[in-house]
Amino acid sequence: MSAQGEVPMGLPQEVALSERDGQYLLHAIAMADKARERGNRPFGAVIVAADGQVLAQAWNATAETGDCTAHAETSAIRMASPSHSRDALATATLYSSGEPCVMCAGAIYWSNIGRVVYGIDAVRLRVFRGERLDQRDAELSCRDVFDASPRAIDCLGPALIAQASASHQGGWKA
Ligand SMILES: [Zn+2]
Repeated sequence: MSAQGEVPMGLPQEVALSERDGQYLLHAIAMADKARERGNRPFGAVIVAADGQVLAQAWNATAETGDCTAHAETSAIRMASPSHSRDALATATLYSSGEPCVMCAGAIYWSNIGRVVYGIDAVRLRVFRGERLDQRDAELSCRDVFDASPRAIDCLGPALIAQASASHQGGWKA
């Protein structure tokens, strides 16, 4: 990888996506913008079946609902899980505008979803979250959760960092 020279030390390297993955990740980023429009933190997620069918889409709704577990990924899984078999979810991909947190990574594990593609990584997100303790996240990568899983969960990211970051510009002030 010759492009590594441009990435500051300690930041995860951006990965290239197929056109298909890129389109669905942009869909998740659009959901993040919707979250922000509605007064929530800017995160979005989409679950897509192997045949391209969108099984669920959700935005972060913690502010508008008061439910601290209403993260985009966990909400999308709550929608998809009751109506789709574990076998169908095993071949589905969850696209998330940001790297899944520990709770969402756990929900992905329990859902049997087999593949994850995310936009901005948790390390870059810390710049937007700032130093406020109530805005900080557990400093554990979703890969730490997936690596501890007895089944393989493919994880691709960070990707489309510029697009995924745009939703967060100025979005963490209040
Ligand atoms: Zn989460």
